[in-house]
Order: sequence, then structure tokens, then C-alpha cells
Amino acid sequence: MGLDITWAVDWVRRSAETVAEHRTRLIALDREIGDGDHGENLDRGFQAVLPKLDDLSAGSTPGDVLKLVATTLISTVGGAAGPLYGTAYLKGAMAAGSATSLDGPAIAAVLTAARDGIVARGKAESGDKTMVDAWTPAVEAADAAAETGADARTVLEAAASAAEAGAEATEPLVARKGRASYLGERSAGHRDPGAESSALLLRAAADAAEAAAGD
Ligand code: ADP
Ligand code: MG
Repeated sequence: MGLDITWAVDWVRRSAETVAEHRTRLIALDREIGDGDHGENLDRGFQAVLPKLDDLSAGSTPGDVLKLVATTLISTVGGAAGPLYGTAYLKGAMAAGSATSLDGPAIAAVLTAARDGIVARGKAESGDKTMVDAWTPAVEAADAAAETGADARTVLEAAASAAEAGAEATEPLVARKGRASYLGERSAGHRDPGAESSALLLRAAADAAEAAAGD
């Protein structure tokens, strides 16, 4: 079963919910190796998307939802993460195109485009201790699952689990990109906030898919 507009809207609602719930934790992580604004910025961005969901016209697609998230995050989040996430959702929207339903390979393509957008924008490589360290394992797991013929929900479950492991694996790394890189060796021993928020957002996507499957 593919994932449709109901899933996409539910993903956004769950994203706003999990970011609000983990706001303080994301702020604390960013305070350790950055300036402490990550949780607040992202929370503001997703709260700003919520009322706009009601304005979506009948016949809107998952791609339209992703585009709405992109434009809202770009105009409200700021910092490094605003443009990076904005680009991710915009590229994801382009990959989704006008499809009304996304199957396993389509979801993997959306995640790949999102990750590629983040890399094109921020120029971070794997191991630089950024959100890329959550997204790249997520994309690899999603691709591997899609290749075995897994459905969209299973692809997202694989992506979310890999992103969580990837976020955790940023802890010993020394940051080479973004504000945390100013700390040099002292950035080691802390989890990257952007990798953590990325894992939260992908888990929200998987949870929304699970809820859709239970309908
Ligand atoms: P700022 O550093 O401007 O305060 P945020 O706190 O909102 O921005 O976001 C910080 C997060 O952005 C980092 O934890 C990291 O995951 C991500 N980030 C920073 N620079 C890059 C980059 N060049 N490429 C990918 N991700 C990055
Ligand atoms: Mg910050």
C-alpha cells in the first residue's frame, strides 16, 4: 500500500508534536556544541506549518505537503538548519512530483533527494558530525529495503531506525562543519543536534505510515 496525502499531513502533525516534545533536549544538545537555538528554531518552524495544513486544497498531493513544509521552514527557522531542512523538503517534494500515492521505491527516492539536497547545500560529508550522519544511513537503509520489494511503511521503518543509530554514532565524532566545528576536538562526546532532530522527523514519518497501515 502506498502512502498518500493523509500520511503526509499526519507526518507533519507528528513532526510538530515530536519536535515540541523534544525541544528542550534539542536545545540542550545544541548548547553543548553550538548556540542552543536548534530546538527553538525547529519548534517555531513546525508550529508555523500546522495552521497552513488547513489551507491545502482538495486534491493536494504528498509533494504539495512537502513543499508547504519547505517554504515555511525556510521563512521561519533560520540558522544553519532552516535552509538545510528547507532544501531537504523542497527536493523531496520535487522527487514526489504529482504522485497521489508513494510506494516503497518512491519513498526511498524522496529520502534520497532530501539527503542530496542537504549535501548540495551544506557540503558536509559523512563523518563530519552533522545531520548528514543521520540522513545517509537512513537513505542507504531505505534503498536496501526498497530493493527487496518492501512497502513504503517498511522502507520508512528501516530509514528511521538507521537515522537513530546514525544520530547516536555522531557522539564520538569531531565536528568538521557548522558551528560545532569551531570547538574542534571539544565537540567530541556530544550528539549532534541536527542529526538527532533528523532522526525524530524520520521516526515521525515511520509512525505516520504505521498509523496509516492500521486504518
Ligand atoms: P546554527 O548552527 O546556525 O545555530 P542550528 O542550531 O539550527 O543552526 O542547526 C545546527 C545543526 O545544523 C547541526 O547540528 C548540524 O546537524 C546541522 N549543520 C550545520 N552545518 C551543516 C552543514 N554544512 N551540512 C549539514 N548539516 C549542517
Ligand atoms: Mg544552533
